[in-house]
Amino acid sequence: MSIAFRASPQAELVVSRRGKMITTTSALSRIRKWPMIVNYAIAIVSAAISAVVAFTVLPSWNADPVPLLFLCTVMFVALAAGPGPAALASVLTFLSLQYPLLSPAYPEVLQFSEILRAGLFIVASVLVVMLSAAQRRTSASLQLLGNSQQIMIGELQEQNDKLRVENAEHSEAATRARAAEQEIRLIVDTVPALIARYRADGFMDFRNRSWRDYTGLPQDNFGGRRWGSALHPDDEEMVERKWREHIATGEPFELEQRLRRADGEYRWHRVRRVPLRGETGEVIKWYAIAFDIDERKRTEDALRESEADLAKARHELQLIIDTVPVLVLRHRADGIIDYVNEVGRTYSGLTTTKWTTRTSIITHPDDVPRLEAAWDVALVTGEPFESEVRLRRADGEYRWFVTRRVPLRRNGEVIAWYAATYDIEDRKRAENELIESERRFREAQMELAHASRVVTMGQFTASIAHEVNQPLAALLTNAGTALRWLAHQPPNLEKAKPSIERVIDDGKRAADILSRIRDFSKKAPVRMESLEVNDAILDVMGLTHTAMSDNGVSAKMQLAKELPRILGDKVQLQQVVLNLIMNAIEAMTEVGAGSRELSISTSRAESGGVLVAVRDSGPGLPPTGLPRIFEAFYTTKSSGLGMGLSICRSIVEAHGGRLWATPNEPQGAVFCMMLPIGEQSLEKLGG
Ligand code: ADP
Repeated sequence: MSIAFRASPQAELVVSRRGKMITTTSALSRIRKWPMIVNYAIAIVSAAISAVVAFTVLPSWNADPVPLLFLCTVMFVALAAGPGPAALASVLTFLSLQYPLLSPAYPEVLQFSEILRAGLFIVASVLVVMLSAAQRRTSASLQLLGNSQQIMIGELQEQNDKLRVENAEHSEAATRARAAEQEIRLIVDTVPALIARYRADGFMDFRNRSWRDYTGLPQDNFGGRRWGSALHPDDEEMVERKWREHIATGEPFELEQRLRRADGEYRWHRVRRVPLRGETGEVIKWYAIAFDIDERKRTEDALRESEADLAKARHELQLIIDTVPVLVLRHRADGIIDYVNEVGRTYSGLTTTKWTTRTSIITHPDDVPRLEAAWDVALVTGEPFESEVRLRRADGEYRWFVTRRVPLRRNGEVIAWYAATYDIEDRKRAENELIESERRFREAQMELAHASRVVTMGQFTASIAHEVNQPLAALLTNAGTALRWLAHQPPNLEKAKPSIERVIDDGKRAADILSRIRDFSKKAPVRMESLEVNDAILDVMGLTHTAMSDNGVSAKMQLAKELPRILGDKVQLQQVVLNLIMNAIEAMTEVGAGSRELSISTSRAESGGVLVAVRDSGPGLPPTGLPRIFEAFYTTKSSGLGMGLSICRSIVEAHGGRLWATPNEPQGAVFCMMLPIGEQSLEKLGG
């Protein structure tokens, strides 16, 4: 194999490119695979064999086939080993043939037939050698041809394979291209945008399915109209004009227009068209896409409107802030004022909108510490803040204002405070006047109550004199007794002592009664104190004994134990009880002497206060006058003033309580007084 490669570079090439070509090498090539020396050996051996045969066998045959045999030998050598060996075989066989001639026994002059035979042999040998050489050349040529054919076939096969691969690739590419085209068509048809193609003259020659579905218009032309009925009539002129401009310039086209939907609704679309240019730059087609921007447009319009509304509202708000008769201030989170409205600037006479202090510099110096302290607390707690404060007007006058500050928070954190400060000077004055008039009213009430008490005392003069007389009479008796014991000889001090002690007690009793009368009749300011209602009632009863016994009235007391103490003015409340007892005694003078009963009871009220009830067995309340008996100057008595019950009610109400009247069973009237406990009564009394 390796020899063949060396002998034929083409064969080597073939083998290196296509290994299978080696198996197609011809039989001749296989003969030539022997070494050259073998070829020459073949020649020598063949010639020797033919010589042996010629001189040993053939003479016995008595013929002259020697030249023929030698010729056959040469031909065989030529065939088997090539022209060189054949030439050698020719020479050797010729020499063998001429041997007899060279032998000493051979005649010196050659016969003509011998020369001819030798000549013929030489010619035949030369021809054989030439033929052999020609055959070998032809064979080599054929082999070369075969090899080159093999190479060509190999190359052709290779080309063929390549072509087959390319073909397969091409058909695959074509399939892919078809699929891609279909996909593009599908995309173009299904993409949620209106896609169209225009000719260079600006007329549409393709619309995708979205376009057709949206407009409900067919694919064919619209009778000379560019967009058929798809375009809003109001937009048509403007769009046509612009489109013409762009067709002329070839510039990309973009604008917003309304397109009619199949159901007749016009919706805003953003349209964009770009040109496709040829090799020389001229526009061949226009490709167009339109997006529905109706929602966005509406949102934009709404946004624009709301922005306009917002600007208007802001303007109005600013107007309001600057015109409402309120000083509007904004404080930073640290409390510093960083905005003052027009009203504030006008009021203060300070032109700047920033006052840069925590408390405005127009605050009355006396109010600053209080305001600052409250502001400190509000800034820490973040709670709304309200305070009354005096602010200096531009002309120097201080007026009362209420300032209310509320925090503005972001993500729970206070970022600013807004303060509304409004003038309450007039209200403050009215309040002060009200307080003053109330004070005067209370004074007048007290005057009246005092006057009423004095009047009542006047009615009691006889009774009071009797009340005082009793201890004085007892005192005199006990003093006399004591004197008598002292007049004894020796003075009986043991006996005199108790009498003197009783004198002292009687004196105290008289002094006590006089003290109560004095308290009752003196004009003293209201004194609120914690008191036992039962004690106050018992004191009053002590003054009315005589009046009751003089009028044949029997009194009954039902005073509840462990009543809560109430807060009140003792004298005023005693005045009420005395008034009710006096009215009851007076009313009962109208009924028979045997049935004049007065009952005073105290109990714990459901509301937690103390209930006092004064019952009598008199004629009862006047039916027509029941609703009016508490009115001032209402009286059914010829000598009455009609002020008693009115004053009593105002006293009770000033204590936060209630006074009312109901019929008594089986006869008479009941006057009830409910007195609350604790602070509420104090508040209502107002000091
Ligand atoms: P005055 O005693 O001067 O008439 P009051 O204000 O004390 O004034 O009483 C108003 C009226 O209420 C009396 O005139 C009387 O008609 C009626 N009144 C008051 N207490 C009684 C009572 N216990 N029984 C019946 N009527 C009474």
